Amino acid sequence: MSESTGAAVATPEPARLAISDEIAIEMVGVNKWYGDFHVLKDIDLTVKRGERIVICGPSGSGKSTMIRCINRLEEHQRGNIVVDGIELTDDLKRIDEIRREVGMVFQHFNLFPHLTILENCTLAPIWVRKMPKKEAEDIAMHYLERVKIPEQALKYPGQLSGGQQQRVAIARSLCMNPRIMLFDEPTSALDPEMIKEVLDVMVQLAEDGMTMLCVTHEMGFARQVANRVIFMDYGQIIEQNEPELFFDNPQHDRTKLFLSQIL
Ligand code: ADP
Ligand code: MG
Repeated sequence: MSESTGAAVATPEPARLAISDEIAIEMVGVNKWYGDFHVLKDIDLTVKRGERIVICGPSGSGKSTMIRCINRLEEHQRGNIVVDGIELTDDLKRIDEIRREVGMVFQHFNLFPHLTILENCTLAPIWVRKMPKKEAEDIAMHYLERVKIPEQALKYPGQLSGGQQQRVAIARSLCMNPRIMLFDEPTSALDPEMIKEVLDVMVQLAEDGMTMLCVTHEMGFARQVANRVIFMDYGQIIEQNEPELFFDNPQHDRTKLFLSQIL
């Protein structure tokens, strides 16, 4: 094909989304509706590799929906999402690829109650990754040590405390070797004395350089590890800033009100 001759030849739109190894997640003009309810409104968000982002905001503001769109647990209707250079479309193969790259930890740990801790951790590596059992177990033990509960490997979830179960859920995600971790209020179902043991594991992950998006109202954690804090309200990103500025000098009235209620 000849280069532009000025003739009225339709050229394809240039790709809007820069695909770079530096960028872990790119959301451009993302909109989502649940029926008539407009839950995400023109979300633009770029997350660089290694960045740690804390997302906060009132209940119902769309935080869970936004991060669930990143691994296609929810589908957006307008705009683009690129994760690890892979554009999220209806292509199931691509969705599988993204789910392999992105680990997710929920408020309720979602462990399989009838499987041991070790089996919970090896299930996906063996059945999804086709990893030999022994190798999957070695990797699982490595991560159970990292979250400081290797001695619980042969117990069942019901025999563990909430904090221990949440650490298993984190270890289980790490066994799939994700490049990005999403956390959705990982400590909000825990008793206060167990929150720190889970946050400590998350701090360690952050220090190891994991790209992380965490929905949490643990503002001490946000100050300690976040590069950026994002405040959402009514489906929009209202304000974002580095933690110091975000907490000490919020700009928007809604942010000020929210912070005054939680701090
Ligand atoms: P947050 O995590 O900030 O509390 P969510 O993303 O869970 O907010 O929810 C945002 C809004 O979308 C809420 O009003 C919620 O009721 C609504 N919502 C969430 N999930 C669904 C769903 N599956 N169907 C319909 N509405 C939903
Ligand atoms: Mg939520």
